[in-house]
Amino acid sequence: MNYDIAIIGAGLTGSATAALLAKQGFKVILLDKGTGLNFHLSETLLVQDLTLLDSLGITNQIANTYHYEMVCYYLDKDARQKVRISHTFDKSYTDGTYLVRVDREKFDKTLLDCAIKNGVVYRPCCEIKNIDFTENATEIFYNHASNNCKISAKFIVDASGKSSLLANKLNLKSQIKKLDDRVTIFSHFESEAIRSGLESHAIYITEIKNGYIFIAPLPGNRFSVGLVLSEQAQGNFTSSEEIFFSLIKETPWINRSVLDSHQVLPVITANNHSYLCKNLLTNKYALVGEAAAFRDPFLCNGISANLKIVEKTVEAIVAIFSNISAHPAYTETYENDVNIILENQTKKLLSWIDSYSLKLSVQGLADPHIPYGIPYFLLSAFKSSNESCVSSINLMNAARKTFSEQIS
Ligand SMILES: Cc1cc2nc3c(=O)[nH]c(=O)nc-3n(C[C@H](O)[C@H](O)[C@H](O)COP(=O)(O)OP(=O)(O)OC[C@H]3O[C@@H](n4cnc5c(N)ncnc54)[C@H](O)[C@@H]3O)c2cc1C
Repeated sequence: MNYDIAIIGAGLTGSATAALLAKQGFKVILLDKGTGLNFHLSETLLVQDLTLLDSLGITNQIANTYHYEMVCYYLDKDARQKVRISHTFDKSYTDGTYLVRVDREKFDKTLLDCAIKNGVVYRPCCEIKNIDFTENATEIFYNHASNNCKISAKFIVDASGKSSLLANKLNLKSQIKKLDDRVTIFSHFESEAIRSGLESHAIYITEIKNGYIFIAPLPGNRFSVGLVLSEQAQGNFTSSEEIFFSLIKETPWINRSVLDSHQVLPVITANNHSYLCKNLLTNKYALVGEAAAFRDPFLCNGISANLKIVEKTVEAIVAIFSNISAHPAYTETYENDVNIILENQTKKLLSWIDSYSLKLSVQGLADPHIPYGIPYFLLSAFKSSNESCVSSINLMNAARKTFSEQIS
């Protein structure tokens, strides 16, 4: 079967690109090795200029995935002391932008449903194995239910997230300076009893040596348990499983939760893999979302920046199909646009953080692996304490002070 455009990955950016292209009349196929609806913890969204949602007519549906309260519990190792910190987002930023939390599963499903409604052919459980560029078309080889399959398309959009299929194949990735060297080691567990005791969208944190350990609820009966440590703190452990289960044992309340549950995901280690790709657009392919770039952002600006980039990508594809070929100057303009979008988002968050005069502290806490809400909670906790901290350790100390004051 031949398509105008084949999109690899039905995550946030793949579905959004597919929906917008199909709306413009392109014959689009969207393939994912899973379903595209991955188990994400809820994420922070900068609500700013989300014109893509207006173009797709789903602004109100998407607004149903927003929630405005962030909740964080800090517990001691035995869960004898527990402090609940909450913050409610408001719309008080002067330029009209504001932050919300989004339920990523619902958010991504709204985009995927919209793509399907606009005529996109959606194929879950299709793992792309290889891509061959020929003179007139591109061949995509994938595996579905143990069968080797092939389709052709005139143009490919790589939205495969951090797998970065094309960037790896064509060697387009370069590492960029990372702000944080922490590593997260996590797994998912299921238990109706444990999950029902967790407040939705909250995160539960206990400090451990060189880092912290957290539990966060996921949809259904699932929850995530993770450690956040500096890379060096992994020390002499020989495997992720060993470090994960050894450190969990030192936190009895989390150990009990794990023992009373069923593990449903292998232990995964996530390092900060900040990178940027070159040649993001040619007349054969485009890279979008995390397949193109991953930066360790503050409070992570991924969703809104990625939706803006999707609009630019679709504009570029329309130009390519209208015979305004992707000559080098055009490609360069596109890459500049993408970089400007990424930088502007970061600048906006920085200026917002500046207003708390704690920029350096947040920098210390910027963490690409775990819910970005944590720095935000800390900020709102410290705003009242007038602490001016310059490192994450100081910030954690200030946090402890604030929390112990709350306990007493
Ligand atoms: C820990 C963490 C926390 C974050 N927190 C925030 C936050 O608070 N706010 C925010 O705005 N952003 C946040 N982000 C960023 C945000 O999650 C990403 O920007 C966004 O998910 C990227 O979407 P994507 O479509 O590029 O990739 P993904 O959503 O990862 O989708 C990629 C899809 O490609 C599929 N795929 C991969 N390989 C193949 C293959 N070979 N064949 C077929 N399909 C394939 C996968 O199954 C997946 O469905 C966070 C990111 C991380 C890692």
